[in-house]
Amino acid sequence: MIIPAAPVPWPGRARAAASFSFDLDAESAILFADPSSATRMSVMTHQSYGPLVGVPRLLRLLEHHRIRATFFVPGYSAHRHPGAVRDIVAAGHEVAHHGYLHETLTGVDPVTEAGYLDRGLAALEEVAGVRPVGYRAPMWELNYHSPGLLAERGFLYDSSLMDADVPYELATATAAGPTSLVEIPLQWALDDWEQYCYLPGISGSGLIETPAKALALWRAEFDAMRAEGGCFVLTCHPFLSGRPSRAAALGELLAAAAGAPDVWVASLAEIAGHVRSLGLAPRELPPPEPW
Ligand SMILES: [Zn+2]
Repeated sequence: MIIPAAPVPWPGRARAAASFSFDLDAESAILFADPSSATRMSVMTHQSYGPLVGVPRLLRLLEHHRIRATFFVPGYSAHRHPGAVRDIVAAGHEVAHHGYLHETLTGVDPVTEAGYLDRGLAALEEVAGVRPVGYRAPMWELNYHSPGLLAERGFLYDSSLMDADVPYELATATAAGPTSLVEIPLQWALDDWEQYCYLPGISGSGLIETPAKALALWRAEFDAMRAEGGCFVLTCHPFLSGRPSRAAALGELLAAAAGAPDVWVASLAEIAGHVRSLGLAPRELPPPEPW
């Protein structure tokens, strides 16, 4: 029997938490999904808009609202756009792991997956001198063996699963024995990809929603999570939400979060550290039994 995650006490007067995360996929996600896209100059520039223009704009926005965010950076993005990654670190934000070439992990064996993890770690170390404590699986597709690989490499938390409104300790098996990893759940309704991504022949519904529609969706979830005492985790991509009107809409949400006295706005690493300090009993999440 799988036991639901228990409510989490938040620091100080806070009755809920909120975190703003950015996946710096840039070219990597598209190159992995379709290697032939490397020859599509216009598509490549659509992606590089993220680190080139989106990141500076988003860093200004976050600074204005005094919010520390988490940036999940594929190693390939760090190698191709080292200046953007160093600027993120210099601005005081968290840099976390997001694969090397944004490799989808579905059906990938543990040895191959470990190689992706180690290559990504080496890239972040080389470019930004960062040893990340956090991980988010590319395409948010974790394998049941993934948490063990993360724990063996010293990661504190993952943010790729979807079965709770609050973070929890995830029971994790490693070669050295059982341990746990903090899990900070997310959901596709709080991802700008579903609202804005249009890449002809590659990804997206073909619909590009208005910033007002995305803001309304996210604001409703923020208000409800606040009332429920949950952990609101938004995921944006700089090549999408770094565009002017979308960044402006995001700014409205940042203002609402920063102005809510009962909401703890923090990076995912800070939230994970808080959860770890609570000494929660790890939850077991076994794969489905054969049917
Ligand atoms: Zn991604």
